[in-house]
Amino acid sequence: MLTSQTTQQRCPCGSEKSFAFCCEPYIEGQKPAPTAEQLMRSRYTAFALGAIDYLIDTTVPEKRELIDRAIVAEQIQFTTWTGLTILNKEAGSKEDTQGVVEFEAAFETEDDQCILHERSSFYAKNGQWYYADGEVNVRSVA
Ligand SMILES: [Zn+2]
Repeated sequence: MLTSQTTQQRCPCGSEKSFAFCCEPYIEGQKPAPTAEQLMRSRYTAFALGAIDYLIDTTVPEKRELIDRAIVAEQIQFTTWTGLTILNKEAGSKEDTQGVVEFEAAFETEDDQCILHERSSFYAKNGQWYYADGEVNVRSVA
């Protein structure tokens, strides 16, 4: 599934760590992301690499049925993610059960360059963080 990304390469989430020591263990299901920020980073990486199952599995169960796999697959196919910047975070540590992460993610499509700004809410249950929802704004920077 993730053959385009070798474990020694730097992680797409911009952490400066190698993929193997950053988002890969979470995306491959070896262990849960320990914080809301790490879950958010790994979901960005999953978007960048096309790991749709991970995106669905890390969405709160109540919202999973709203996800249209075909639409997500199309978004992944036509979008190139070019950078992630964490702007702010509230709670979301190992001891918390909820957290908020505000970030900007840069992406390109065939005819546009955009910045997605999102304030995302996350919940933790039994040591697993889940994405709940977010306030999303997309602006063109082309
Ligand atoms: Zn990462």
